[in-house]
Amino acid sequence: MKSDVEISQETVMEPITKIAEKIGIAEDQIEQYGQYKAKINFDPTTEKANGKLILVTSINPTAAGEGKTTVTVGLGDAFNELHKKVVLALREPSLGPVMGMKGGATGGGYAQVVPMDDINLHFTGDFDALTEANNTLAALIDNHIQHGNQLNIDPRQITWKRVMDVNDRELRQVVIGLGGRTSGVPRQDGFDITVASELMAILCLATSLPDLKQRISRMLIGYTYDRQPVTVADLHVQGALTLLLKDAIKPNLVQTIEHTPAFIHGGPFANIAHGCNSILATQAALHFGDYAITEAGFGSDLGAEKFMDIVTPRLKQSPDCVVVVATVRALKLNGGADKHELNTENLEALKKGVVNLKRHVEGMQQYGKPVVVAINKFATDTEDELTYLQNYVTNDLKVTGTIINSWAEGGKGAVDLAKDVIEACERPAEFHELYNDDDSIEDKMAKIVTQIYGGDGIEFSNKAKTALKRIKKLGYDQLPVCMAKTQYSFTDDAKQLGAPENFKIHVSDLQLKLGAGFIVALTGKILTMPGLPTHPAALDMDIDEQGRITGLF
Ligand code: ADP
Ligand code: MG
Repeated sequence: MKSDVEISQETVMEPITKIAEKIGIAEDQIEQYGQYKAKINFDPTTEKANGKLILVTSINPTAAGEGKTTVTVGLGDAFNELHKKVVLALREPSLGPVMGMKGGATGGGYAQVVPMDDINLHFTGDFDALTEANNTLAALIDNHIQHGNQLNIDPRQITWKRVMDVNDRELRQVVIGLGGRTSGVPRQDGFDITVASELMAILCLATSLPDLKQRISRMLIGYTYDRQPVTVADLHVQGALTLLLKDAIKPNLVQTIEHTPAFIHGGPFANIAHGCNSILATQAALHFGDYAITEAGFGSDLGAEKFMDIVTPRLKQSPDCVVVVATVRALKLNGGADKHELNTENLEALKKGVVNLKRHVEGMQQYGKPVVVAINKFATDTEDELTYLQNYVTNDLKVTGTIINSWAEGGKGAVDLAKDVIEACERPAEFHELYNDDDSIEDKMAKIVTQIYGGDGIEFSNKAKTALKRIKKLGYDQLPVCMAKTQYSFTDDAKQLGAPENFKIHVSDLQLKLGAGFIVALTGKILTMPGLPTHPAALDMDIDEQGRITGLF
């Protein structure tokens, strides 16, 4: 089997203008970035979205990811194969995981978006623009303090952090402003990864340039000595920050190996942020396609919950069908199998591990829309394992369970799944909200924990209790909650696999994100700046004189 990057580099791509033309994007809407990438100008207020929306999510992932992007791309190619007008909407990869453990986010095998090397490395510069905008704000805050601090900002209560799109644990806590009078006012600071920045969330929730600017001006950057909130509007820099993002806000168009159009735009992580590509990209996919397929990050407890509770109300459209991706390997791991022995048949572990899939399916069913399970086939899965899993999905969960083999076969390997998804999209179904704005913050979180995670409730740390009081006092309790939690478990402890019961979620802090319009609840030991593993992917990467790349996946 060829490597992902080999397959990508061997692909004969169509010019991006041709891909755009296929779905009716006008010539003057396209801004080309070379031959195979383009940004598009799209105004959702004049261009209505009519397509059906399909949301791809999964069971709890293992370290490698369970193949959501691979399934999303394969499914798109299968719709194409069936002559359906389909457009994908995906997140942009973050360089942290590309260089770290997980690798890129462009799918795998014969189900990839291309050019995968460009998309995984810098792409059209959106993340660089976000990083610079984020850090320009940080510099402007410190500069304000240096030059007299008219706003009376308390340097100990600045909540705006610097960011980098690198997994760099060394920068989690830093002291800045050392070096004397002319080098700033010393204070403790820290770096987050770019994809955790509120600006990233805003880019993904904004519906226009004016909306982007509005949201940026509302962003909270810290508090004054007398504990009053300070926003970007107080600093008068919303104009400059919006300007830095004027191109980043436009969705990027690329294609799959089989020439299916794909918008790739924005990329907040789902464990520490809201985990979904930009609303503009999804709206564009819904406008230009009869079907739009989008992926939400990590398991359904994270990205999909946030899609339903945070994105859906702003998108003003809910998914017509939810696809939950499961693999035999990950379910065996959830059932107690050794992680080094996932390639050998183990029906016992599989039978124990399916409880994880059950909880994800039941969690999604509460939103009222049809759920289909996609069984992402690996070459090492045995016939007996696949048959057991398919029967379990059909007979016990009573939902459609379809095997997908797109990693090996591209769109052809997903035709059965595509037919099942098309059928599910036609079923009449009504969207049910999990919570509404008027629920208290505690109730919103309790609903997520009991109804999606299967836990008993919440335990707040003293810091979180103080933050909660402050948020209520400021009058922001109507905001939705964005949970920051490990992706590996329904609980806040990464080691508890399967479907644990009788547990509480420990909230260590609550952060107000006024521009994004949500409250982030940090749970367990979650970190907003990841580190690199013992053997980072970067160690295996290279490029030769001919420009041939190795080690990207
Ligand atoms: P996710 O989107 O859930 O994080 P990805 O689609 O990015 O997962 O896949 C994670 C990794 O697993 C990728 O390197 C991909 O090539 C690989 N992968 C996915 N599906 C398969 C499969 N059926 N067989 C082999 N490898 C796969
Ligand atoms: Mg993915």
